[in-house]
Amino acid sequence: MPQDSPRIGHGYDVHRLELPADGGLPLVIGGVRFEHVHGPVAHSDGDVLLHAVTDALLGALGEPDIGQLFSDTDPKHQGQDSAEFVGEAMRRVRAAGYRVGNLDATVVLERPKLGPRKEEIRARLAELLGTDAVNVKGKTHEGLDAVGRGKAIEAHAVVLIVADTRN
Ligand code: MG
Repeated sequence: MPQDSPRIGHGYDVHRLELPADGGLPLVIGGVRFEHVHGPVAHSDGDVLLHAVTDALLGALGEPDIGQLFSDTDPKHQGQDSAEFVGEAMRRVRAAGYRVGNLDATVVLERPKLGPRKEEIRARLAELLGTDAVNVKGKTHEGLDAVGRGKAIEAHAVVLIVADTRN
């Protein structure tokens, strides 16, 4: 893959939120654990933001998406820390001669409030992506549809990868 021009990638993910009795896992967003009554239904740890970021990185490389790389029926990925998915995507970014230029992401959820933990999430993403150029935004869905009723959580991510000319 030629590295003379930057490449952009987009990722999106959604998870249903349920009570633990109905299969809801502990709520983890961007690698940060929240105490909340509902949690994602997922095969891995259900980290919606890290899934969107993984797909953005893979998308920038033009590689298969997260669902193709990490099958959600493979017992190996059950309950898996989604930082591993980002880690594998970053290995591929580096192997292709790129680094992350910047990441901009939005998490859409009604509750809990993201604001107080946003810097923690941003710092964790910065660590995983090897750059401080990371931005995280939180939005509600204004009471509309499943996200607005607190029954689902969504994340969007856009990433720019640039040629790594540092060494
Ligand atoms: Mg997912």
